[in-house]
Amino acid sequence: MSLITPQPGIMDIALYQGGAAHVAGMTDVIKLSSNENPLGPSPAAMQAVRDSAATLHRYPSTDHAALRAAIGAVHGLDPDRIICGVGSDEVLQFVVHAYAGPGDEVIYTEHGFAMYPILARMVGATPVQVAETERRVDVDTILAACNDRTRVVFIANPGNPTSTMLPDDEVARLADGLPAGALLVLDGAYAEFVDGFDGGAGLVAARGNVIMTRTFSKIYGLGGLRVGWGYAPRDIIDVLNRIRQPFNLSATALAAAEAAVRDQGFVAHCRRENAHWRAWLSAELAAAGVPSDASCSNFILARFASPDEATACDAYLQSRGLIVRRVAGYNLPAALRITVGDETGCRRVAAAVAAFKGGAA
Ligand SMILES: *Cc1c(COP(=O)(O)O)cnc(C)c1O
Repeated sequence: MSLITPQPGIMDIALYQGGAAHVAGMTDVIKLSSNENPLGPSPAAMQAVRDSAATLHRYPSTDHAALRAAIGAVHGLDPDRIICGVGSDEVLQFVVHAYAGPGDEVIYTEHGFAMYPILARMVGATPVQVAETERRVDVDTILAACNDRTRVVFIANPGNPTSTMLPDDEVARLADGLPAGALLVLDGAYAEFVDGFDGGAGLVAARGNVIMTRTFSKIYGLGGLRVGWGYAPRDIIDVLNRIRQPFNLSATALAAAEAAVRDQGFVAHCRRENAHWRAWLSAELAAAGVPSDASCSNFILARFASPDEATACDAYLQSRGLIVRRVAGYNLPAALRITVGDETGCRRVAAAVAAFKGGAA
């Protein structure tokens, strides 16, 4: 037997499955499987990418001061409490790396984001999955699962793939009820889709045990660049910065993200378009016999009569050049997660689901 062995937990990781992007033999395909912005990135961000080309021989900023200042100005946050990462996934990774290890427990919920158990195993910690109630995070169930080994609790708010939200007072109750050694991570990947929602920033400011993460991958339409950020108490940011590589973000990514966050007019436009087509799509699906919870994000969790029906509908949609996301791996075998596309995407997927339910398959 080889003496060269990976650290505990690593071989238990099942590789993350991204949303499919292609259907064999088809060209006119619409991808609604990864919650991407159908309107693309802000024109200002695209210009910043082009402008960055001439100075790519220079190393990027290591403290991300300009991007943190822009985020702070737009959101009314202290830039010294912000950390930037290669997607919010990297910020989430900093958290488990810094605060959990073998023997420790990391809590996530029944339909929680697939990265949470992967991150726990990455550092040799034990992922602990707790039940939700009707596709909603349940604070009492989480608190009941906590013990003196609990180090990190992950909640996405709004949730992915559920699209439901935990109200502020419930999130506060969760933060207040955690054991002393546990950190609450509020993953706000979809926070911008909720009018007036601060993603939990207010809770971070008022407590010592909460970190909020945000991303440029969803409403900002910059998933291809990989930029995210976190907001936490100063002492936690100081810890996370020690394990961050000095040049984790490229100059291009920093420049594009800064331009994007300053272009809040574009963000507001995307939020309105999403809300409009989300309402239209969920009503069309409901009329076709496919219900969903009221969505707080840029996707709809469409519920079918059975796992078989969801599988058959997914196959039918693919045959029509429409890629959506199976969520059986999220303990939702009878559902499909459908990203809210632009008008064309929404009309095509609504018509196809209606045709499927009407017996076209
Ligand atoms: C998309 C998503 C992220 C964002 O990941 P990035 O690394 O920032 O692209 C984080 N959490 C959830 C729940 C998501 O759906």
